[in-house]
Amino acid sequence: MLVNSKKILLDAKVNKKIIYQFNINNLEWTRIILEKCNQLNTPVILGVSEGAIKYMGGYNVVVSLVESMIKDLNISIDVVLHLDHGSSIESCIKAIDAGFTSVMIDMSKLPLAENIVSTREVSQYAHKKNVTVEAEIGHVGGVEDGISSSVLLADYEECLVFVEETEIDSLAPAIGTVHGIYKGELNIDFDLIKKLNDNLNVPLVMHGGSGLGDETLIKAIKFGISKININSDLQDTWHKAVVKFINENSNVYDPRKVIMSGKNNMEKLIEEKINILNKIK
Ligand code: 13P
Repeated sequence: MLVNSKKILLDAKVNKKIIYQFNINNLEWTRIILEKCNQLNTPVILGVSEGAIKYMGGYNVVVSLVESMIKDLNISIDVVLHLDHGSSIESCIKAIDAGFTSVMIDMSKLPLAENIVSTREVSQYAHKKNVTVEAEIGHVGGVEDGISSSVLLADYEECLVFVEETEIDSLAPAIGTVHGIYKGELNIDFDLIKKLNDNLNVPLVMHGGSGLGDETLIKAIKFGISKININSDLQDTWHKAVVKFINENSNVYDPRKVIMSGKNNMEKLIEEKINILNKIK
């Protein structure tokens, strides 16, 4: 069933569990992620970037695709359809009006006061339609949809003010992770995660969840992260399998076979990530 993220993320926060956002890019990825999570009986957040929405044909296309798949494939888990990194109020409104159940408004490059004003406007619009809102503070940075930017760690006091003033449902503070494939040393501020989780009643989101080992992810969950976003890891593992398939089957031109040759790798990754919870003592 399509739901907003409120209940599943609060449950994750209270019970120190984790909800993954896996990003979708096309029909095949949507199907692979939905069916695997359904098989594992775990709720999932389907993240869709503006770039992916454009690629797939538009907000309504994505909503119809996800709604139809849930119906035709008998998906019984809770599924959140989430706009990832909405870059404007208009983009969030388009997603909400089309039927997305959750949006992220990302005004993290703006000064705090301006970030608050835009985020609050989105919250007010979204909440009237039972849609949940995530917003970023500090700046995660890295490479997203081909655009690169640098990291700016979130400030604790600003996070408190931001959540209070914007009435968002989940907070994505920049904690030292980056989008895209890691280059260089990783420096996550676990103390900031803990302090924020102890003093805020909204769940915390980790952007840039790819490229992190189990130990790092487990520590982040223990310190108070409730949602982890994964995109690049899926792209990377899918790509490796497809390259291998094409090299070994250069005469196969059926696009279904080529695209779906990445399915096993994607399923394996999804299962490994979800099983991380079993490793938490
Ligand atoms: P990765 O690039 O690390 O997968 O991060 C994805 C993400 O945070 C999407 O918002």
